[in-house]
Amino acid sequence: IGRFAPTPSGYLHFGSLVAALASYLDARAVGGQWLMRMEDLDPPREVAGAQAAILNTLERYGFEWDGQLVTQSERHDAYQDIINRWFSHGLAYACTCSRKQLEPFNGVYPGLCRNAGHSPENAAIRIRGAELQYRFEDRVQGLFQQHLGNEVGDFVIRRRDGFFAYQLAVVIDDAMQGVTDIVRGADLLDSTPRQLYLQELLAASQPRYLHIPLITQPDGNKLGKSYRSPPLEADQATPLLLRALRALGQAPESALAYGTPEEVLKWAIERWNVSAIPRVRNLEEACID
Ligand code: GLU
Ligand code: ZN
Repeated sequence: IGRFAPTPSGYLHFGSLVAALASYLDARAVGGQWLMRMEDLDPPREVAGAQAAILNTLERYGFEWDGQLVTQSERHDAYQDIINRWFSHGLAYACTCSRKQLEPFNGVYPGLCRNAGHSPENAAIRIRGAELQYRFEDRVQGLFQQHLGNEVGDFVIRRRDGFFAYQLAVVIDDAMQGVTDIVRGADLLDSTPRQLYLQELLAASQPRYLHIPLITQPDGNKLGKSYRSPPLEADQATPLLLRALRALGQAPESALAYGTPEEVLKWAIERWNVSAIPRVRNLEEACID
């Protein structure tokens, strides 16, 4: 069981197409299911119409998902229930530190509010981090390890503005949807140890991970981070799918250029080759032919 989990903070761009394609092929190549989840946790960053546009583009590019779309904005009760449970067990606590106060600590939370007993109102909620080295074997990137205590510290699971953190929601929902194989961009590699830790707390089983190269702009930024990357055009489905396959190291036949998106996907499912995926974290878009 695989999934694609777009954030509607923008339209689909070439980088998200590559991620959708990789997760789709990885699931379908073994006759698995491919689920769809809209990660709309951050309304202020949401672009109006993006949710519908993303799904519409995927359909026009020939993708078919299984089951009902899961929408994270409809899952707040599930997230809050778990936070309440951890809070009452002393595993989660309220943090009132300002950004400025935390600035000197280089992104590693020093535990200032751990024993302060703040009320959760108008405060961020953090989970007590395991003081452990987390390691996992990524199917493309190989061994990845991170010491959660030294490199991350207690991390935020609900933001001060009341919105739930990606790290929490993604773990709860992947477990709820029974996802066994996570395929996504390598920008999320260093989020994975936090997610492994939350899976342990939830007694959820650990999925397998495959982090594909992140498609970047010449300035090194992720595609879609600036407004320069154009949305995917419906009439470009076949050529862009072929280009996305090449980004994943697959070698589509030239005759496919005359095929429909469905024919390209069918060809690619039958020949999905994980060992051909470039073992790099970033791939500059301009370098893909
Ligand atoms: N919603 C995340 C994103 O668009 C992906 C989350 C995931 O695949 O774990 O970057
Ligand atoms: Zn604090």
